[in-house]
Amino acid sequence: MIIDFKKLQNTQNIKCDICIVGAGAAGSILFDKLTDSKFNVVLLESGLVDVEDDYQELNKGEILLQGQNNKNKNEVIDYVNFRLRGLGGTTNHWGGGCSPFHEIDFLKRDWIKKSGWPIKLNDLNPYYKKANMYFELSTDVWDEKIWNDIGLQSNLLNLNEDKVKTLLRYRSGFLKKSISKAIRDWSAVNFKKYLLSSKSKNSENRIIYDATLTKLISENNKFIDYGVVKSLNGIEKKIFAKKFILCSGGYEVARILLNSGKNNGLANDNDLVGRYYLGHPNTTDFMKLICNTKEIASKLIWNFGWHKIGENQSMPHLGFKKKFQEEHYLLNTGIWFGGHEDKNHPIYIAKQLRRDLLNKNFKNINLSTKEFLSILKNIDEILLNIKRGYTNPRGVKNPVKEEVDIFYMAEQVPNKDSRIYLSKEKDMLGMNKIVLDWHLTEMDRENPLKIAKHLASTFGEANVGKIVLDDNLQEKINNFENFGDTGHPSGTTRMSDSKDDGVVNKNLKSHFVDNLYVCSSSVFPTSSYTSPTYSIGALAIRLAEHLIEI
Ligand SMILES: Cc1cc2nc3c(=O)[nH]c(=O)nc-3n(C[C@H](O)[C@H](O)[C@H](O)COP(=O)(O)OP(=O)(O)OC[C@H]3O[C@@H](n4cnc5c(N)ncnc54)[C@H](O)[C@@H]3O)c2cc1C
Repeated sequence: MIIDFKKLQNTQNIKCDICIVGAGAAGSILFDKLTDSKFNVVLLESGLVDVEDDYQELNKGEILLQGQNNKNKNEVIDYVNFRLRGLGGTTNHWGGGCSPFHEIDFLKRDWIKKSGWPIKLNDLNPYYKKANMYFELSTDVWDEKIWNDIGLQSNLLNLNEDKVKTLLRYRSGFLKKSISKAIRDWSAVNFKKYLLSSKSKNSENRIIYDATLTKLISENNKFIDYGVVKSLNGIEKKIFAKKFILCSGGYEVARILLNSGKNNGLANDNDLVGRYYLGHPNTTDFMKLICNTKEIASKLIWNFGWHKIGENQSMPHLGFKKKFQEEHYLLNTGIWFGGHEDKNHPIYIAKQLRRDLLNKNFKNINLSTKEFLSILKNIDEILLNIKRGYTNPRGVKNPVKEEVDIFYMAEQVPNKDSRIYLSKEKDMLGMNKIVLDWHLTEMDRENPLKIAKHLASTFGEANVGKIVLDDNLQEKINNFENFGDTGHPSGTTRMSDSKDDGVVNKNLKSHFVDNLYVCSSSVFPTSSYTSPTYSIGALAIRLAEHLIEI
């Protein structure tokens, strides 16, 4: 049952066995899994059924970079739109890219302080498989085997075989549900649909929207007595639950806990709530690959572009093997490629001509004799490409220039100074806003240079091309210029074996509060370079099964 909180105006306080807070990917999966169990479940969502601006106001806060307030750099972290309020949460506009974390992400690595999860990839693998249903993925092939599936050679650039074995890791990382046969027409899964279709299940269970959990009240800071819920127009109620699961995302989980309990917040006996904020440092601006020929560039872009696998799409990218990362003290890093259309190529000229003819834009047609002759000379290739546009889901093969963009995204080194804390300012519901102080370490700033060096030697040796670095690279990195974060906030309630090192244990239960669980990227101790939501989904399924079992 989906209910507007305002309609509960004249009823008693809310009671349930399990209260899930937040209706994004995590909350939707947990609700779906728990709703058929013995539990009476309430899902509280701060926003409405659809995302609306008034509710987005609740996200406002302050951003510091390396402890400094720099208003000109606010675009580095778009803290309002990095999370959406409404059923489905941020999946209302996410990209839908999915990939499991890698084995190395879970390991304690000597060269990365505070790395290491209390669980390993193998612990999560069965839940990734179960998550496929929610993410509408039709594959669980994530490594170089994918190249066979899409009919390509694994070493398409003829790179040094030894290097390929030790350095490069081909991964199919990015899958999206296609709504038609063509790769061009795709849409990512909005998790709202699992909530809208949940009416057939146990009617005792409720999804309540316009219901922001503003704080959790605990007399002894060891057990949550109740939560205080408010609608945007000021209606207030208490919610009593045997267990609370916070699924409000990487910023808001920490914010709720810091706004709750006594003194220093709830579940914060060791002052770790909000600390170890992990972003995903990324840039397209620091290096380019200049290929030796346009043919090499076109081959690269075609092969590292979108592919269709079953009902999904995949965009391959490069990563670095575990041993190589160990030897060179690298952060786990992903590299994607992007091309620039070659507007002098006969295929491009013919494409424009065809478009103008079909749209009857005769005024635009202004072909030189040279261009006309080049079309005639390459007519076979041009016709083949037009045919491909109709018959191949990938569409036409666009010729590109030698210059290729490189998109870099890496994990961030966990550090205590990178953190969320409460501002003195309050939002319209009386919750203290957040200050996000994004701190990078020396290693985060050096990693792009190290990666560039390894790519340069690999591509140079194989006669693919050369890597050209931005002249002001180091300065730009230090100033966060075109070096930003993405909407993958993680780490603010990290998972740990020991009470001294984190906020929740490996079953996502608070180390200090008996009836409190967290399910969000906020529990990641390290965050891979891979997007987080598929892993959040796997953790949600694992937690639901755990709660049903205990
Ligand atoms: C533009 C963009 C593109 C992205 N693309 C990708 C991608 O391709 N792949 C990927 O893996 N990830 C991507 N992400 C990240 C992805 O959206 C998140 O990882 C995912 O949505 C997190 O799910 P969640 O359930 O933890 O949190 P959210 O989806 O953020 O949901 C949290 C919910 O909690 C609610 N809430 C917050 N506070 C309260 C409160 N106090 N009381 C009640 N409810 C509350 C919010 O309203 C929201 O509905 C992208 C993000 C952005 C911004």
